[in-house]
Formats: sequence, structure tokens, C-alpha cells
Amino acid sequence: MGQSMVAITQQDCTGCDLCIAHCPFEALLPLAENPAQRKHSRRPVIVVENNCVGCLSCIGSCPTDALYELTIPDNAKQSILLNPTIQEKTEIVNRWKKGGLGVA
Ligand code: SF4
Ligand code: SF4
Repeated sequence: MGQSMVAITQQDCTGCDLCIAHCPFEALLPLAENPAQRKHSRRPVIVVENNCVGCLSCIGSCPTDALYELTIPDNAKQSILLNPTIQEKTEIVNRWKKGGLGVA
């Protein structure tokens, strides 16, 4: 069985933020700015690869199926978790304080 993590198809992400609460590792965060030319008015959520441990708790939380699992071939020599892409600037999400998500 290969190790796995997740990715998000940005054009399918409406920025609804539903998935954020499903990640115990704060690996799902909204981009600080909505990229130009996007069809959705809200900025997308991205996977903070340095935080993602591949637990898959978030899979199934996305109503548009923008979240998907990445699998690693059994013969891979190195985990893709060891080669994160350059991290784009994200919003800070209030998980604990009044008015926040109310989850860890
Ligand atoms: S796979 Fe686990 S750690 Fe990675 S984004 Fe989903 S819930 Fe978070
Ligand atoms: S649940 Fe899906 S559409 Fe909503 S923010 Fe997360 S990835 Fe985007």
C-alpha cells in the first residue's frame, strides 16, 4: 500500500471552506488572494503540503469533489511528501476564538 496525500483542483474549488474543519493538521487553508481570471468570486483553499500527513480525514468533505487523493506508486523511491511545492500565501483561519470554526 502506498503512502498518500491530497490535492485540490483549484478551478473546482468554490472557496466554501467546508473542508478546512476536517483537517486536524491545519493543512487546508484559503489563499490570501483570489487569483485573477478565476470564475469563482471566493479564493480557493489549498493544501499546505508541509502540514499534510496524508491521513485522508478531509476526503469526502468537499461538495464539488475538488479534493482528491494522490497515491504514490509502490515502486516509488521517495515520498512526494518530501518534495513540497513553493507555498503560496494563505489566510489565517480562526479555529478556536469566538466566531471561528470551533474545531482543532
Ligand atoms: S490528508 Fe489529512 S493532513 Fe492532509 S489535508 Fe487532508 S485531513 Fe489534512
Ligand atoms: S470543501 Fe471543496 S470547494 Fe469547499 S473550500 Fe474545500 S476544496 Fe474548496
